[in-house]
Amino acid sequence: MLPDKDGPVIGGGQGSPEGEDPSVSLFREYLRLKTVHPDPDYDSALRFLDRIAEELELPMKKIEVCPGRVVSIMTWTGTKPTLKSVLLNSHTDVVPVYQEHWKCDAFSAMKDAEGNIFARGSQDMKCVTIQYIQAVRRLKAQGWKPTRTVHLMFVPDEEVGGHKGMETFVTHPEFQKLNIGFALDEGLANPGEAFTVFYGERNPWWITVRCPGSPGHGSRFVENTAAEKLRQVINSFLDFREKEKHRLNTSECFTLGDVTTVNMTMVKGGVAYNVIPAEMDVSFDLRIPPTVNLQEFEKQIKQWCKDAGDDVTYEFAQKHMNQNVTSTAEDDPWWSAFSTACKSLNMTLEKEIFPAATDSRFIRAVGIPAIGFSPMNRTPILLHDHNEHLNERVFLNGIGVYERLIPALTTVPASPDEA
Ligand SMILES: [Zn+2]
Repeated sequence: MLPDKDGPVIGGGQGSPEGEDPSVSLFREYLRLKTVHPDPDYDSALRFLDRIAEELELPMKKIEVCPGRVVSIMTWTGTKPTLKSVLLNSHTDVVPVYQEHWKCDAFSAMKDAEGNIFARGSQDMKCVTIQYIQAVRRLKAQGWKPTRTVHLMFVPDEEVGGHKGMETFVTHPEFQKLNIGFALDEGLANPGEAFTVFYGERNPWWITVRCPGSPGHGSRFVENTAAEKLRQVINSFLDFREKEKHRLNTSECFTLGDVTTVNMTMVKGGVAYNVIPAEMDVSFDLRIPPTVNLQEFEKQIKQWCKDAGDDVTYEFAQKHMNQNVTSTAEDDPWWSAFSTACKSLNMTLEKEIFPAATDSRFIRAVGIPAIGFSPMNRTPILLHDHNEHLNERVFLNGIGVYERLIPALTTVPASPDEA
């Protein structure tokens, strides 16, 4: 079954509320699936996607990368299947909600009178999943065929770091077989007229600094205490934090993705009021832009620890070192196809470094260019927030964007190494 884009059964016969666009109904149906951490109902998403693949008459491949963690891939084979393919990636999981702060059930996909659809995942990133699907459905209904192969990939566990999802899958032989030349993945909403695109990400470093010292009785001036060292360490990190914050606030062109954020997130130590502890530890969450020399930066951290006193050490719980960014040079064939298609729709693009982390970092790390893009302008950034929502007009407009992007990307001419 391949319903016409205006047909009444688009999205599989669930029935649309009176006067609602079938794409919106399908979006709301997908939003109601509780793929929410800590125990996502991935089976429901897989059943939903199976149904879609059947409707679109596209083969679906499923790879269990870890127990209970399945990556599924719908493939629309191109007329030149040996050329590198185009990946449309989305994750199926969503972050938990504080239901008491929502004005409706966060999984009801309630639509208000203005057409705002409220649900966890409405921005991050179930909207994009359905937009990919509906754009493909429209293109198929028009009889259009891709030159390069298109893969629609649906991955689990992005919201918990991607370790049992994309991070593992990029090393899998089935991933190599996809022969990907370029990938689209998630971005962020833009409250203004423009659309934001992300060509790189900051590297997260999670670090704990250990400050050992001489213990003793709380009534004395003990020398070489852990607390004195801890204070030095905290001062060094937080002074640097102030500098970066100042840089962000005083330069017009800087966004969060251009500066290093530092946050002190945990402090440990001590057993009693009157006992000077033998060790105190402090932990920081750092996010470092790709422009920073990471070796130099670590040297700086080492120096801060040395300055704080004897035997102060540090260790990483997470230390990402990949600084690959995707080319946005005008002569880059992928970027040129992407940006030209957007231009043809009168869209203004704002290029940024993603302030947090997405699965794109794993894709870029294996050398594949990836752009983070969720076509949502005139939309407040509400991912992971209470009352996350997306307006149906913005959502529908996004389908049209992919309807233009997919043909543009799949007709990028063969590069010399592909011929
Ligand atoms: Zn996301």
